Amino acid sequence: MLSACPLCGGRALPRVTTVGTHPVVRCRSCRLQFTNPQPTDAALAEIYGPDYVLAADGTAAADIITRAKRATADHYLDLIARVAPMAPGTRLIEIGCGAGNFLRQAARRGFDVTGVEYSPFACDRARATLGGTGRVLQGEIDEVASEGGRYGVCVMCDVIEHVRDPAVFLRKAFNLLQTGGVVFIATPSIDSWSARLLGRRWMELKAEHLFYFSRRTITRQLEAAGFAASTLHPGVKKLSFDYINAHFEKYPVTGITPALRLLRALLPVPWCVRPFSVVASGLIAVARKPAESA
Ligand SMILES: [Zn+2]
Repeated sequence: MLSACPLCGGRALPRVTTVGTHPVVRCRSCRLQFTNPQPTDAALAEIYGPDYVLAADGTAAADIITRAKRATADHYLDLIARVAPMAPGTRLIEIGCGAGNFLRQAARRGFDVTGVEYSPFACDRARATLGGTGRVLQGEIDEVASEGGRYGVCVMCDVIEHVRDPAVFLRKAFNLLQTGGVVFIATPSIDSWSARLLGRRWMELKAEHLFYFSRRTITRQLEAAGFAASTLHPGVKKLSFDYINAHFEKYPVTGITPALRLLRALLPVPWCVRPFSVVASGLIAVARKPAESA
């Protein structure tokens, strides 16, 4: 149980909600929101089962998810190319690479890719996705601690909200980067319209999410790790009508699931599979490792 805010040291930490049995507090001075106390390792291990990062392979739903993830990856890579253009052959590392869809798209654009992934099942899938290009290592960020200063880009999508100590984690990412290298972070945001609209029913309130950042707190957390020149961007994800439909088939909601099923039967197929942009619940932050910290 933390008695002070890990970001600013503030001691006023009123509870804002409870997720399952886990209290979520918000620091009164910096507004960082976090689970306190954090779930035990055993409780988290139960949540992160074999199918946590993966959908069943070879199914129609898996194809739909893969297509959406690759479209999202392309959007992220366009953003990196715009904010921090990198020479071909630049080393890119993704912490928490899941099934490897982001790395695949990055390799296609000329990055020399490395993925680190905790789940051995997901590692196997990522290696298959990459088809022999790049490297996938099983473990956590410490797995690559000896490769400090080698990377131009470090990517972490939907990861930082899961770690027990974001300050330590970001410092490790900082050390992996060469001077001028960038970190790319996608995470849920308590500033998002869905968080404001849904309040305690926000879909990102999950037992395994230990930190809930905002535009302000993620910037402050990045600066605390030594990063500079951070820019914030809308947390765009690419979805298709079929993706949304598959989600509501898996988690049926009265009224919505049958309506979507009907609509699916009426709509032309190309329309159902075409990805479109949605800004729902997240933010993206990109920050640079400066030449010399003062
Ligand atoms: Zn604070």
